Amino acid sequence: MQNPEITRRGLMLVLSSPSGAGKTTISRRILASDDNIDISVSVTTRSPRTGEVDGVDYHFLDRETVEAMIARGELLEHAEVHGNHYGTPKGAVEAALSDGRDILFDIDWQGTQQLSEHARSDLVSVFILPPSGAALESRLRTRAQDSDEVVQRRLAEAGNEISHYAEYDYIIVNQDIDESVARVTAILEGERSRRERQPGLGRFVRHLQDELDRAYAPDRSA
Ligand code: 5GP
Repeated sequence: MQNPEITRRGLMLVLSSPSGAGKTTISRRILASDDNIDISVSVTTRSPRTGEVDGVDYHFLDRETVEAMIARGELLEHAEVHGNHYGTPKGAVEAALSDGRDILFDIDWQGTQQLSEHARSDLVSVFILPPSGAALESRLRTRAQDSDEVVQRRLAEAGNEISHYAEYDYIIVNQDIDESVARVTAILEGERSRRERQPGLGRFVRHLQDELDRAYAPDRSA
């Protein structure tokens, strides 16, 4: 945990990757081990996969509802991915950030570009690459949650998705899940320590100086 006396500004941690590169597993591990970060639950028009829970994995909505949210300006970003609409509701993100909490986004490169236009200084973006095409295919097939046709489509789009790696701050090749989780954790800790993310620092340092001067340099404190 950061020094509790220093108020901080929440950051927006974006994880993107082609489907099957391990991003969801990494996100879950980070969320389970860190109390200061929440996940942004997206809206989607995609149907739930087995085991997915409405309101937890996504808000599963029909196209009309998502389009109405877009028209009302209720989404921070939105994109069409693999033939479905996906988007980030504004409310939860704004509440978390103003509370000094961090927020994790599992969104694609299009969403990352949109967030970066509005909130560049709060954004920390990480792109996860698979170690090989064969590994990506094998992960997509072994998770066995999508039909052959859907897997095929995702693999066909992976090459285009990874072409956006250079738009990200950090790149992780996910050879080993434990190591990748450790790397994302290290990025999060490093970014939390940035001076500009701790707006209460000036006040804290002035207190510290007063305390030191009073105790050790009384001439200066007089
Ligand atoms: P999936 O259908 O496998 O859950 O997600 C497909 C892709 O959509 C993933 O790359 C995921 O990161 C992306 N995605 C999920 N939610 C959002 C969102 O709210 N906005 C954007 N732009 N992409 C999203």
